[in-house]
Amino acid sequence: MHRQFTRGRLFMGRLDKGDDLLSALQGKCSELGILQGEVRAIGAVACARIAFYKQSERKYEIVHLSRRLEILTLTGNVSLKGEEIFLHAHVVLGDDEGRAFGGHLVEGTEVFACEFTIQELLTEAPLSRAMDDETGLFLWA
Ligand code: ZN
Repeated sequence: MHRQFTRGRLFMGRLDKGDDLLSALQGKCSELGILQGEVRAIGAVACARIAFYKQSERKYEIVHLSRRLEILTLTGNVSLKGEEIFLHAHVVLGDDEGRAFGGHLVEGTEVFACEFTIQELLTEAPLSRAMDDETGLFLWA
């Protein structure tokens, strides 16, 4: 499945030190009334919590990185999950030796500094997530 979108409003801004990265970005989307869109960000974190989806067990395994890392890239999409505005984001984080770690972003990642771009996308029939029995994930229906 796919849908065609047109570009809506474009926002750039930064989060505050100490913010929870996922919650703060999702909060921005809600505050701005972004029902669908793309999110990108770069910056740094004081610690990170990411997840890996274990396909055979159909559950997320949490990885906690309790150190300072750069946000080399964060990319995500915004759509509706039920009535709620839902941000699905993945991050690649870099350490002081140039190594990279990455995964599905979950709550518990503390912002040191973060610059974000949010692109609103518009379409007539909004994308909405529903449980997909084949994968155990909430995918676009
Ligand atoms: Zn994911």
